[in-house]
Amino acid sequence: MMLDRSLLSVVVPIYNEEATLPELERRLPSAVEGLGFDDCEFLLISDGSADASEDLIRQMAARDPRYRGIFLTRNFGHQAAVSTGLTYARGSVVAIIDGDLQDPPEAIATLIDALEHGADVAYGIRSKRKEHLFKRAAYFTFYRMLRALSAIDIPLDTGDFCVMRRRVVEAMLTLPERNRFVRGLRAWVGYQQVGVPYERAARFAGAPKYTLRKLLGLAYDGLFSFTNLPVRLIQMAGFLLSGVAILIAISYVVWFYLAPEQFPPGFASLMVSIWFFAGVQLLCLGIVGEYVVRTCSEVRARPIALVREVVGQPTAGPTPVG
Ligand code: UDP
Ligand code: MG
Repeated sequence: MMLDRSLLSVVVPIYNEEATLPELERRLPSAVEGLGFDDCEFLLISDGSADASEDLIRQMAARDPRYRGIFLTRNFGHQAAVSTGLTYARGSVVAIIDGDLQDPPEAIATLIDALEHGADVAYGIRSKRKEHLFKRAAYFTFYRMLRALSAIDIPLDTGDFCVMRRRVVEAMLTLPERNRFVRGLRAWVGYQQVGVPYERAARFAGAPKYTLRKLLGLAYDGLFSFTNLPVRLIQMAGFLLSGVAILIAISYVVWFYLAPEQFPPGFASLMVSIWFFAGVQLLCLGIVGEYVVRTCSEVRARPIALVREVVGQPTAGPTPVG
């Protein structure tokens, strides 16, 4: 499919990034030059910045009409900022990039290349991370865990850095859920997605804005919005424990017949009850959990399926009765 190059939107979440904004202003326009778009818009979403970021964004917008500032009323979090940016983006192609220049704007060109070759989404895969060991290890484990647990194919080692065709953005906007794990939603909508390796730079300036608490929150959104496995594990544990209770009961019966004189009084019924009720309770929790899982999926109200293409003409069909 031909790539519509009428407008490129670049969505950039900004939370107290006064130290990097001047450099962003220097690098972003030159990075999108020569990509062949008729027009560009740079949407800087200030996620309740308390430093000079919003003033700087105002100045940038005054200097260059391609910049737009969208200022949130408080700090809603990175994923909320990106999601809000997507609702403002009008581009035929939409890019998402971090405001701290860890995703090099120059790499947008490589991602657009992948769209040119037919992909609908091109996302960056971090081939090298310039972050300290603990953070790298935590990310490494998290993405592998999420991938193992999740029903959909969430790619490894990717963040939000990506470019998407308009129709993919529209599809993501049809998902009304509030806990938005953008990289998961992006994977959920399907279409042709390709990962493009890039070297993730060190933060240009300033301290990371993700605190440990925010990172955990992100991990929770990823896990609980895209996996039901914990509930299934409870159910399995319930079955397992009930099974063990039955085995224990059988072994006591055998013991009683083989060596009744050594059989401890009262002990058997106690053991069997403990295991059996533990199992029954877990099973019941699992059943309640199953209802919760189903309620969650109804509440998320994701579309049942998305249609990419319909081939052929509709047949006339029978005239409705009445
Ligand atoms: N960010 C945001 N709201 C937040 C935290 C971060 O908009 O509450 C932005 C931040 O300004 C940056 C991007 O999200 O542009 C990624 O944040 P950060 O660099 O702290 O995350 P890391 O790269 O360490 O994962
Ligand atoms: Mg960063």
